[in-house]
Formats: sequence, structure tokens, C-alpha cells
Amino acid sequence: MFRYLIFDLDNTLYPKEAGLLDEINRQIDLYIGQKTNIPKSKIPKIRLDYCQKYGTTLGGMVVHHKIDPKEYFRDAYNINIADYLKPDPAQAKILEGLNLKKVVFSNSPLEYVEEVLDTLGIKDQFEKIYDIYFCNLVGKPNLSSYNQVLADLGIEGNECLFIDDMPSNVLGGEAAGITSILIGEGPVSNISWVISNLAELPMIISQIKDKLTA
Ligand SMILES: [Mg+2]
Repeated sequence: MFRYLIFDLDNTLYPKEAGLLDEINRQIDLYIGQKTNIPKSKIPKIRLDYCQKYGTTLGGMVVHHKIDPKEYFRDAYNINIADYLKPDPAQAKILEGLNLKKVVFSNSPLEYVEEVLDTLGIKDQFEKIYDIYFCNLVGKPNLSSYNQVLADLGIEGNECLFIDDMPSNVLGGEAAGITSILIGEGPVSNISWVISNLAELPMIISQIKDKLTA
């Protein structure tokens, strides 16, 4: 049965409405504008192309513009996280009540992930953090990234659950053999399990278990 719960970070362990990821995306757009001659109006389309081709915007920036990933993260993630997030004791309690080991699997860099978890007051609940460097800068939804995480945990896909706010990442998890949950707005085609917030997590986990044992 399930041993691990694998969480995305951004817009999953904190709500989209917090605005943190919007601000990071704004910083990434500024960075691209500074480092390349891509016109501002074309940046969203280029980022989408890079994400589809290389897994992340960063992946495309490294291939096409030879940028330094460390510099990219330093500039784009140069944000005071506490301006956007605060501890959420109710959520911490929900997570604590889940009878599974928890890890984070994020396309963001480790330092940032740790700071976000710390700010939310939930860092000590997570056994391990898999960041974009762990995946050699090729993150979700690339199949190899899920397989790397599973291999490191020493488990098969059917021994864990995965939760993410991006449909493409949820489908990536399913492709890796992991029952995957979308957090956000549903329904989305080909995605079976959708919750609107983390408070619904205990309920959906028991529904998944019921379905598998039926
Ligand atoms: Mg996310």
C-alpha cells in the first residue's frame, strides 16, 4: 500500500492566491528580458515552448541562451517570501495527521523550497526535498524526473501518491505509475482525482484506497 506522499511545492503547499508564484514568474520574465533580445510580448509563448520542450523555462534558457542556472535562480527568486506567506497551523495539522511519509518534489531550487516550507511552519514534516538540481535541471513533467525520485526513495510508483497543481505534472505522475491528485480547479480530462484544497486530502486518500481495494 502507500508509504509516501509526494508534494509539489508552489501553488500546492500554499494557495495560488498567495501570489508568490505570480511574483516569481514576473521576475523570470524580467530576467529573460534582460538576458535576451526576446520582445516582452513574445516571452509568454517562448516560456511555454521551453516548458514543453525542456520541462522548465530554465531548461530552455540554458540550451538557447547559455545562462547560468545559479544566476537565474538568484535573480528570479530574489523575493521576500514572508511578504507572501505566513504559517498556517490548520494546514500543518492536516499534513501532520496524514499517516504517510512526506517529501517535496519541486521544479524550484532547494534553498527556496526550504525557505517556503520554513515560512509555512511545516519544514520538519518533510523527510526529503527533491529540487530542480536533483533532476539535473530537467524537472516535472519529464518522466525521468519522477523515476529518479522513486529510485531515490527506493519505492515503486504504486507505493506513493503524488499531488500537484499543474495538470501536465499530474499526468506525468500517472505516466510514471503513481496515483496522482490535482489540487485546483477540476474537472480536467484524463485526471481522476481532484481536490480544491489540502483540507480535502485525507478524504481523497481514503477514497483512493477504497477504490483500489474494491
Ligand atoms: Mg506547482
